Amino acid sequence: MSNYSKDFWHPMSHPNEIKQRESIHVVSGDGVYIKDDKGNELLDGVAGLWCVNVGHNRPEMKQAIMKQLDELEYFQLFDGVSHPRATEMAAKLVKMTEPENMKRAFFTSGGSDSVETALKLARQYHIINGQPERKKFISLRNAYHGLHFGGLSVGGINAFRRNYEPLLNNTVNVDAPWLYRNPWNCEDPDQLAQLCADQLAQEIEYQMPDTVAAFIAEPVMGAGGVIVPPEKYWPLVREVCDRYGILLIADEVVTGFGRSGSMFGSRGWGVAPDMMCLAKGISSGYIPLGAVMINERMEKAWDNNADFNGVIMTGYTYSGHPVACAAGIASLDIVENENLPENAKVQGAYLLNKLQGFADKFAKVGEVRGKGLMLAIDLVDDKVTRQPIDPTSGYANRVADIAREQGVLVRPVGTKIILSPPLTFQQEHCDKIAEALDKAFSTVK
Ligand code: PLP
Repeated sequence: MSNYSKDFWHPMSHPNEIKQRESIHVVSGDGVYIKDDKGNELLDGVAGLWCVNVGHNRPEMKQAIMKQLDELEYFQLFDGVSHPRATEMAAKLVKMTEPENMKRAFFTSGGSDSVETALKLARQYHIINGQPERKKFISLRNAYHGLHFGGLSVGGINAFRRNYEPLLNNTVNVDAPWLYRNPWNCEDPDQLAQLCADQLAQEIEYQMPDTVAAFIAEPVMGAGGVIVPPEKYWPLVREVCDRYGILLIADEVVTGFGRSGSMFGSRGWGVAPDMMCLAKGISSGYIPLGAVMINERMEKAWDNNADFNGVIMTGYTYSGHPVACAAGIASLDIVENENLPENAKVQGAYLLNKLQGFADKFAKVGEVRGKGLMLAIDLVDDKVTRQPIDPTSGYANRVADIAREQGVLVRPVGTKIILSPPLTFQQEHCDKIAEALDKAFSTVK
């Protein structure tokens, strides 16, 4: 197609696949809209990639970035060096996570880096805490924790792993708290929460508790298909982790800063993890940035340690990049000042309500689910058995293509359509998405 470039390889794609589809060449963005090179305006139903939370082309963001470029474009944070934006950004993150008792931020360049760092910190925490045998990680089936080797090792989507063995570690996966599809065919939320927590506890017992370092999970699973756990799930998981002395790592790369309708996903479940992995919404995608937050329990372990084992042997050239931190501060100011988590909650509930009727109306829609402004339309070949649609059928792509013709960009991912718009979305934008998808599902057979 006209925009196909053989000079670069699109992430997560076969090079030939892009040639076969009408590719999109995004040339500009403004608010909740983007424009392609043909002059078409598209409603951004995916916020770039779950990240442009404050919307495109915000003057406050550009001013903060320009101002920082005038002052200091880059300096490192190694060797004890710092700069004002890193200090301010860290203070802001600690303040924002006061309810979770987070005490310190370690900066990274993005989500995968944040997960790697958290896994290392978990291992190291137990070493300096006198329990070096705590080496294992437990995570969820369908989990997505980025694509570096550590994140892939704890990831639960096998398709991402298969070509990259044997550098990966075999992590133990337990079942996700997924009401629509779970091995017990359980549709009662409380019961499912208990079944999943019991399974986690049994797995820990089986592995031997003093060999397990941490349990890592997304508060609401994103890439795995927007799996929203039952109310009681996270509090029960916290209890299980505490019972066995295991760290709880919340991968908040998608859910952090409002997307799921509360400032942090775990806060939405009333749970304080031991570590939080952050990225995406932290700088609204204007400049790459990530962070890992550690809580008081972890900080104390380091406070009481003075030897070499306490040195964190990791860090990135762009950890705490000054321009990224300037973007981060500006982005989080907007998130707070405009109360975007609340807007995500209100608009997300409105959009979910509009889309849920699709499950009755269209043969291929099995379920529409979501929390805040993260939603998924689950496509099935059989509504009764809930057999997922054949991903090679191209159905999701065709739906997305028709939606695009209606001026709306949504994300087809195999057996699902994913929606994750900017958190500045208003009712009229939700209406527009619903209308475009209605038309798309009515058209595609
Ligand atoms: N963790 C979660 C939950 C994610 O959704 C993602 C990316 O989508 C990552 C980690 C990896 O982030 P990045 O792509 O910035 O490396």
